[in-house]
Amino acid sequence: MSTKNNIKNCQSLLDKDLITSEELTGLEKVAQKFSVSISKSVLENTSSPDVLKQYVPAIEELDVKEDELDDPIGDSIHSPVKGIVHRYPDRVLFKPLHVCEVYCRFCFRRENVGRGKEILSNEEIDSAIQYIEKTPEIFEVIFSGGDPFVLAPEKLAKLVKRISDIEHVQVIRFHTRLPIVSPEKVSAGLLEALESEKAVFIVVHCNSHEEIHDGVSLALKKLQKEGIPILSQSVLLKGVNDCSEKLEQLFRTLVKNRVKPYYLHHLDKAEGTSHFRVDLTSGQELMKELRGKVSGLCQANYVIDVPGGFGKVPVGHNYVSQDGKEFFIEDWQGCQHKYFD
Ligand code: SF4
Repeated sequence: MSTKNNIKNCQSLLDKDLITSEELTGLEKVAQKFSVSISKSVLENTSSPDVLKQYVPAIEELDVKEDELDDPIGDSIHSPVKGIVHRYPDRVLFKPLHVCEVYCRFCFRRENVGRGKEILSNEEIDSAIQYIEKTPEIFEVIFSGGDPFVLAPEKLAKLVKRISDIEHVQVIRFHTRLPIVSPEKVSAGLLEALESEKAVFIVVHCNSHEEIHDGVSLALKKLQKEGIPILSQSVLLKGVNDCSEKLEQLFRTLVKNRVKPYYLHHLDKAEGTSHFRVDLTSGQELMKELRGKVSGLCQANYVIDVPGGFGKVPVGHNYVSQDGKEFFIEDWQGCQHKYFD
């Protein structure tokens, strides 16, 4: 997406009263740095300003803090060939494109998404797939990006077929926001493209129960009818979902839609995102509050991607402490119990 398009997108936000004309000039500077796009479905179905702030650019994005990074989770140092991130031994990210339906204002790949050179060339796709073919320890291939569901269904189908044909690959996972932000695009062609002999999983990115309207429920149902299990990943965001009531509503709504909450991400230190940051202690406290309210089915794993490419680490509340041979275990009501191993 070009800067010109980004600025055009800012202008359309003004037309829709999502920003004021005073804000527009400043936001054009934001749009020169980071991509801007809000899908038609989000605009039509979202009334909450708290939910919309995930997509509407803000002047705070130009405030880059010292500890913020252009590649906060260290994708580039684990990229043996273009389009592949091989951080953990048994799985790779396969990123055939850097295009999304929406551009989230807190995105950890915001330096890359929608910034040009958006789709890998045929030669680059071949090299990426050859890397997977030649690496027998790869059990799982995770289509990521950008959003892999933005690819034309015929193109996606060809990629799914090529990955499915690799004998040692047993699981194909898709990370996508499209069923949440553009559910009408979950088409028969897309469903067909996902067919594989291998186990297929989808992880949808969703941060608020208000994002799950009837159209989204229907899109999720269509994918589930194909026998595809769906999990979710959410990001803990100040002003969007940083209280236990909102997280409870989000996780309950996901489960009601047969989606298992999988990850709650502590916000990565991407440039210009500090206005969305919730501190780690508050995040742990929220997860503790949630444990007393909802079943395990409604719990996500609270994780930090360690800056520098060291991978994800669970950072939820610690329920166990130790003094010599004695353990102290905290129950869901906060009471401590001695435990001898
Ligand atoms: S959909 Fe994902 S990759 Fe795309 S902008 Fe949002 S967080 Fe980033």
